[in-house]
Amino acid sequence: MKKKKSLKGLGARYGIKIRKQYTKVHFTLKQKRTCPQCGSTRFGRDAVGIWSCKKCLYKVAGTAYDIKV
Ligand SMILES: [Zn+2]
Repeated sequence: MKKKKSLKGLGARYGIKIRKQYTKVHFTLKQKRTCPQCGSTRFGRDAVGIWSCKKCLYKVAGTAYDIKV
């Protein structure tokens, strides 16, 4: 019997709802973003709620896991 692929970092002790949420958040964080200012893809989360561009140092406030659209 094949084992089901477990999601990185989380075991089976967590509920499926939490795991799904985690996956979504993780995916959102890892997603490549483009800087609204210079278009560089080196745009990412700097700290919780702060997103910044590594190239032009443009900073924007957002939520913990995503920038506001
Ligand atoms: Zn930039």
